[in-house]
Amino acid sequence: MDYNNNAGIDLHIHSTASDGTFSPSEILALARDFNLAAIAITDHDTINGSKEALGIGIPPSLKFLTGVEISASLPPSFPNSGSLHILGYSINIDAPLLNKTLGMLQEARKNRNPRIVDRLNSFGIDLSMNELLSEVGDAQLGRPHIARLMVKKGYVESIKEAFDKYLGKGKPAYVDKYRVDCFRAIEVILDAGGIPVIAHPFLLNIGNIEDIEELVITLKARGLKGIEVYYPEHSQDNIAKLEDIANRYELLMTGGTDFHGSLKPEIKMGSGKGNFFVPYILYERLMESIYTSKNRYL
Ligand code: AMP
Ligand code: FE
Ligand code: FE
Ligand code: ZN
Repeated sequence: MDYNNNAGIDLHIHSTASDGTFSPSEILALARDFNLAAIAITDHDTINGSKEALGIGIPPSLKFLTGVEISASLPPSFPNSGSLHILGYSINIDAPLLNKTLGMLQEARKNRNPRIVDRLNSFGIDLSMNELLSEVGDAQLGRPHIARLMVKKGYVESIKEAFDKYLGKGKPAYVDKYRVDCFRAIEVILDAGGIPVIAHPFLLNIGNIEDIEELVITLKARGLKGIEVYYPEHSQDNIAKLEDIANRYELLMTGGTDFHGSLKPEIKMGSGKGNFFVPYILYERLMESIYTSKNRYL
């Protein structure tokens, strides 16, 4: 591949290691089919997707960043705003602190899923952990898998309906999830030699751009290095606002589709809802920043 200005990248991809439906090997093949110049596999609270891709071997025509999307809590000054997702790029997959922290999140998910199932059972929805585990195998089981099984068993028409009626925050089968403190999430990613980036800021329950800016300032003071500016659900107007914040605070800009395969069928890898595009230059800037930050410690 010729890394010209036309090449696209996708730095937000879920694999079967979390709630995506394509395996790391299928994702590598898709990246080639779609002529993507660089990708990152960013599974929820696990680096197994990235690890598997590295084990398979990355084709020479593709740049690959290891990644993770950590479920974190917002700082105390942002009450009731729900979950904050922190992306980590180019992480050392053997970093002990990162692995320990992800282990805690994985354990918490394991405790949460049976509680969601219990609640669903109490509403007459007949499904069991055994059924779920046999559907999902080694993946990190989450609400999308539960939603998919509810569709399969005919309790709802769609994954969206499962979230809207039962699984979404504030709905009857919702069970809150343990999250890592956001400052800790940043620290853990930095400790693993990675680049911490705030994911899809406009998906937070924070109403306005002033509060998002405040959050970015707070997180930058603790080591945040970038903002996921380009995201299929960000409007052009919101993208412009995030570009402005990234420029003013000298933060990296990243972008990706949040590809989940058939669990988010409207989103295609690399191109989102069709016309989404993230330019290769953003990958280059990210890499430059990785080299300079590593050099500081050489
Ligand atoms: P969990 O990790 O179990 O808390 O589930 C969160 C995941 O569920 C997100 O990463 C999305 O993939 C998916 N999700 C969250 N809300 C919705 C929704 N309203 N409709 C469909 N999928 C959703
Ligand atoms: Fe997800
Ligand atoms: Fe996310
Ligand atoms: Zn994601």
